[in-house]
Amino acid sequence: MYYFTQHCNTKSIRMKKITIAKGDGIGPEIMDATLKIILAAGAKIEVEEIEVGEKVYLAGNTAGISAEAWDVIRRNKVFLKAPITTPQGGGYKSLNVTTRKFLGLYSNVRPCKSLHPFVSTKHPIMDIVIVRENEEDLYAGIEHQQTDEVVQCLKLISRPGCEKIIRYAFEYAKQHNRKKVTCFTKDNIMKQTDGLFHKVFDEIAVEYPEIENEHWIIDIGAAKMADTPEIFDVIVMPNLYGDILSDVAAQITGSVGLAGSANIGEECAMFEAIHGSAPRRAGQNLANPSGLLQGAILMLNHIGQSDIAEKVQNAWLKTIEEGIHTYDIFNEGTSKVKVGTKEFAEAVINNLGKQPAILQPVFFDHNSQFVLPKYVRKQPKEKSLAGVDVFVHWIGESPDELSEIIKGITLPNIELTMITNRGIKVWPEGFRETFCTDHWRCRFKPKAGNKIEKENIPALLANAIASGIDTIKTENLYNFDGVAAYSLGQGQ
Ligand code: NAD
Repeated sequence: MYYFTQHCNTKSIRMKKITIAKGDGIGPEIMDATLKIILAAGAKIEVEEIEVGEKVYLAGNTAGISAEAWDVIRRNKVFLKAPITTPQGGGYKSLNVTTRKFLGLYSNVRPCKSLHPFVSTKHPIMDIVIVRENEEDLYAGIEHQQTDEVVQCLKLISRPGCEKIIRYAFEYAKQHNRKKVTCFTKDNIMKQTDGLFHKVFDEIAVEYPEIENEHWIIDIGAAKMADTPEIFDVIVMPNLYGDILSDVAAQITGSVGLAGSANIGEECAMFEAIHGSAPRRAGQNLANPSGLLQGAILMLNHIGQSDIAEKVQNAWLKTIEEGIHTYDIFNEGTSKVKVGTKEFAEAVINNLGKQPAILQPVFFDHNSQFVLPKYVRKQPKEKSLAGVDVFVHWIGESPDELSEIIKGITLPNIELTMITNRGIKVWPEGFRETFCTDHWRCRFKPKAGNKIEKENIPALLANAIASGIDTIKTENLYNFDGVAAYSLGQGQ
């Protein structure tokens, strides 16, 4: 197995040039506060600023970022980004999703820890880290309308994607002295995609015998996380689940406004607050800079300045503990002074060098070497064609009627074995009660004693076109090393 070494020894720290973007809405205020705090703490950083976000979008760049800005980000490799506003209306691409994918930032890490009793929460002893896969899943953004009634989004899960994120979660747990890694998937339904994620989790978990591991089906896992988060430690999951549950996790610690996140890739990394640009709070010295500050602390750890990260985090905990709070977490019972963005930053700076008395101070490992896993491609398996699904757009009431039409296009060596509608088998022996749309999947497999060949597929499609059947797409059915690697129809 090959690894990238990611962290450097704190003692050999040199000035690190980083890219920053002040973003939109409250972005500039919280970025100024964050930089002021970390520089006061002694962060050895040189800042190069780029413009991204609303202004760039509205100037006609639908990606929200210029080619020159990409050059700066790729040159400096470390990017601290304030939230940006994505203008309403179609055509504007999310800069966050684009950045993560362009730069290969496959790992999204969000620590979520309660600050009880200083920030109200129903979960006083919650301390979890969500490790979210950041590049694939439904976020591949491959969507199509196929019929009048049906649209689709492709869920792509890859073995490299699974291996990298799951190994990252275990390496993170090891480095941060965490005891358990939990995997959330819905593999009881999505046996191929989530099934692969779970399988890879089980494979990699055995490489870390010192760390406990477990798998939960996402629905009950999410319910349990919202109800009893103290039973979890590090949780790793595919992109969409991670996107949703990391916000839930941050919110139940007390506020999404307090959480930061790291987006890590093999070459570059981006750090940010998890909240948005809160445009209604902009320019009023109201916003809480804590989320971005937490992002900056993750960044300092990443660039090997863990001593500074530790100093800032403890000063921040002390400030929270003193009840010096911005409006969003201000609570008559536990807060003492309501402050603005600038005053909050000053309070944290005044506490640099101090430790919290009630909240637990942090001790970051100053000499650790965090090793980033790099994927090593496996030997290809033996792949053989086992059939084909032909999807058709057809308006009619009876699947039996469709089966008669479709049987007319078959070839001598293959036969129609099943028709499904939105995944549920409707022929043969469908239920009259099943609601059918205009989107049908017709499965062809070789007749007994026959094989299906690749060239049978265009022949089948040519027959369909000649018969006036509106074919939308085909999906080949494969066996890998003799094992069927496609789902059955529901009810099959
Ligand atoms: P938001 O996170 O900006 O605001 C949600 C609520 O939380 C608002 O009531 C807001 O006032 C409050 N809030 C958020 N951050 C705060 C802070 N630091 N201090 C105090 N209060 C805070 O979410 P939204 O309103 O749905 O989105 C606003 C804009 O932000 C949209 O254009 C959206 O696209 C964008 N957005 C950007 C990012 C990002 O750049 N990473 C993430 C999410 C949303």
